[in-house]
Amino acid sequence: MVNGKKRCKERVATNSLMPSSKRPRFDGNERRLSRFYEPLVLLYTLGRTRGEHTRDITCNGTEFSNLSRKHLIRKFLCSLAYVCDYAKGGDTVTAIGLESKPHGHTFWIASNNNKTTKTVPFLEVLLAGMHQVSVEATMIAPGQVEDLAAKCIDFAAPRIKAYRSHLKPVLRRCLNHLDDQDHDDNEARDLSEWLQNWNDERDPKDLCRFSYRERKSDFMQLVARLGTEPSYRSNKDAIYHAFSSVRHYIGRLGHHFRVANDLLTCASRLSDILYGFEVQSVPIPTRSTIPPADGKTTLDSVVSRMLPSQSPDVERYQYNLAEMDTKYELSRRFLDNYRDPNLKPRVHAEIQVLEHFHMDSLRFADGNPFIACSKPACFCCLLYFRAHPGHFVEPTSHQKIYLNWRPPDLDARMGIIGEHHQRDILNVMTEASGRSMRKFRHTPGILIR
Ligand SMILES: [Zn+2]
Repeated sequence: MVNGKKRCKERVATNSLMPSSKRPRFDGNERRLSRFYEPLVLLYTLGRTRGEHTRDITCNGTEFSNLSRKHLIRKFLCSLAYVCDYAKGGDTVTAIGLESKPHGHTFWIASNNNKTTKTVPFLEVLLAGMHQVSVEATMIAPGQVEDLAAKCIDFAAPRIKAYRSHLKPVLRRCLNHLDDQDHDDNEARDLSEWLQNWNDERDPKDLCRFSYRERKSDFMQLVARLGTEPSYRSNKDAIYHAFSSVRHYIGRLGHHFRVANDLLTCASRLSDILYGFEVQSVPIPTRSTIPPADGKTTLDSVVSRMLPSQSPDVERYQYNLAEMDTKYELSRRFLDNYRDPNLKPRVHAEIQVLEHFHMDSLRFADGNPFIACSKPACFCCLLYFRAHPGHFVEPTSHQKIYLNWRPPDLDARMGIIGEHHQRDILNVMTEASGRSMRKFRHTPGILIR
């Protein structure tokens, strides 16, 4: 297996987007990066989510037998990415691209924290096992699902542990609430007894299996009903929030069994992909920092750079932002975001895979330019996919802004990408986030986090 570090050194030579020791706006790249981050940091200050959560309507809820080969491969890769993302939070977010070669397929893998030393061998074992099953059996046996789920649950021990610890306090609230109900309330008593299953110190695999089996039970439907937002106005401590969270975490705990089932179902129809496969890590990107705020990082000058020159809107936006500054200390919050000491920018996993395929002109399996990711894309990754000339399949997105997002440092000298590849993408992205900024309506409360 090759982890690509050697090639990475060749590729990243220019560090074209790395901040220099000079003032940030001294050269074109620094200036472009500063201008890219300005509307982004401002948008983040105004509210971290920039739109509705987008979903893949083709793969979700469609019977496997009705999925085309293209969508089957997508489903398979998404499920693989999910089981590789072994911890809760953003560090282990995993992206996978499938390359087609004359003698087999390569699963290219990347993670947000650039650590794939555990994931690559795990994926190799998993895929080899699935290949065996797909060759030997025409029907998937429950024992095979059990076996695969157990491997995935073992690997994702930190994730399962996190779900359990998140479940604990909300479960306690629900149990206390049910205890307070009328003693003749059989429904409350039975539900309380059923919920105790998650209070016991069960083995993680048992708990996950039980959560999966119970996902459609009457008790689960009752929890869903109690977790529905009431039509009357309620506060943030209302009990339905607790029931809703309990339902969510039970669903999460059962999810590995569902994914194991999905993986084997897909694998049984994709045995050609698993024949002679390889797993490789995408070359690790170099580290860089976000250009610091400087004398030009003020609300007024950001607006004048975001809008076309001579725009009649400049004054109006400056006035609105000044008003928000007075009310909500917008300037201070805006600059505080630049000074966050925990800000360690990184190239998100799906962008690493995207540029790896693009830079090396790799062929996607079945000509399907799809990159799977264990989580929906963030706002910047979505913009990056849209702005990229490679026409990759647009990912689903939760449209959240992460300030530690950064574009990859690419070297145009390899001749595969144009001299202005990165500049053009960043310009389109800056334009798009500026448009998103201009759509923002001054609503009191949005700023308060
Ligand atoms: Zn992202």
